[in-house]
Amino acid sequence: MNHPPHCPNPDCPLHYPEAVEKLREENEPTFQKCGTRSTQAFGIVQRFLCTICGKTCSEQTFSLDYYAKRVIDYEELERLTHASTGLRATARHLNCSPDTVSNRNMRLSRQFIAANAEILETHELKENIALDGFESKTLSNYHPNNINIAAGSDSQFVYGASFTQLNRKGRMTKEQKVRTRN
Ligand SMILES: [Zn+2]
Repeated sequence: MNHPPHCPNPDCPLHYPEAVEKLREENEPTFQKCGTRSTQAFGIVQRFLCTICGKTCSEQTFSLDYYAKRVIDYEELERLTHASTGLRATARHLNCSPDTVSNRNMRLSRQFIAANAEILETHELKENIALDGFESKTLSNYHPNNINIAAGSDSQFVYGASFTQLNRKGRMTKEQKVRTRN
């Protein structure tokens, strides 16, 4: 990477890639190389200095693996997740901890959500939409939720999804009622 796509500082004029491109076209300074850092997982990482606000960043700042200490194969992780492989089984397969699997799943999910939003900005709806949902829970029966999905009946493209947290459902034993009150 010769220069970062934009400055990570949201208050800097170079926070927007278009502004960076404009200055570069005018041969105005945008970023300077600012040393390197050696990492076990990614080798030599280049650092950059924003000439406008003075904030520094590195190649890793814009990477899916920002601050990660291990390289995980995201395509393999996606395949396993789509095959409904459990967290621990995925961790054993990838030879890492379940926390690492959760972390990388979160990183990947945010990318998918961003890509989905970007596609929806220009996508023209030309098919019927099927609406469906299911009830699930987070951790225990104390945290039930509803997950609803609107998918294209031909393409199966997800046009919308929602997550609704509910209050506890189902009958409680006396002990559970006492525990809930405390
Ligand atoms: Zn800046």
